Amino acid sequence: MRRQRAQRLLADKEAEFRVLRNTRMKVPSQQPAHADYTVKLKRESGRRYDVRVPVSGSCKDYKYRHPPGGCKHMLAAEAYLKKHPAIRKWKL
Ligand SMILES: [Zn+2]
Repeated sequence: MRRQRAQRLLADKEAEFRVLRNTRMKVPSQQPAHADYTVKLKRESGRRYDVRVPVSGSCKDYKYRHPPGGCKHMLAAEAYLKKHPAIRKWKL
C-alpha cells in the first residue's frame, strides 16, 4: 500500500522533489496547502559508488509507526533517487 502511494506521489509531483545539500530531501505533500515533508538521508557504500538512502521522515506515520521499509515519503524519496542516478550518488 505505502509503496503504491509513494509511486503515485512521485508520478504526480516529481518536479517538486528537492535534494538539499547532502543529507536532506524535500518531499511534497499530496494534500493541497500542506507543507512539504523532510526526509533525512544517509550515505551508504555501494559496490561502485556511495549512494544516498532515506533514513527517517518528518511525517507522523514515520514518527509514530516506523513502518518497515519507510513511510510513503521515504519510499517516494528512494524511488526518486533511483530514477535520478546522478543525484543519488553521494557528492562530497
Ligand atoms: Zn512520511
